[in-house]
Amino acid sequence: MTGPAAATRADREFLAEAIALAHRCPPSRTAFSVGALIVADDGVVLGRGWSRRHDLTEHAEEAALADVAAADRRRLRAATIYSSLEPCGRRLSREVTCTEHILAVGIPRVVFAWSEPSLFVEAQGADLLRRAGREVIQVAELADAAHEPNLHLLR
Ligand SMILES: [Zn+2]
Repeated sequence: MTGPAAATRADREFLAEAIALAHRCPPSRTAFSVGALIVADDGVVLGRGWSRRHDLTEHAEEAALADVAAADRRRLRAATIYSSLEPCGRRLSREVTCTEHILAVGIPRVVFAWSEPSLFVEAQGADLLRRAGREVIQVAELADAAHEPNLHLLR
């Protein structure tokens, strides 16, 4: 390996799909609207999620993990999770962060668009995932699109 890993064209397309899912979030004035997609190494989508899909404190990555069929769970160890927002490394709403969920299920690769602004908690998910040996890629040119459903939070 030489240099940092780069996003592929497929990564950009899946990340754009995750960002589109963020628009399905029930509205909130106090929490981010985020979309997440989990894709197996052969390109099959294993799970789709968005913030507050099942519960007001649910994050998009949790909803996407909950969407993965039991028979597909072993495929997580070679999957990529795409999230419009950097996975949380700290959170106020629940005990387990999305970073911890990703580490626990063994997803080796994380692609996201927008770095979590330090609005609710200090961001640190990407650093924690990298330190744990996961490949983490930010596609910064999609950050504006990921930000768009959250503009009302950041005025
Ligand atoms: Zn989270």
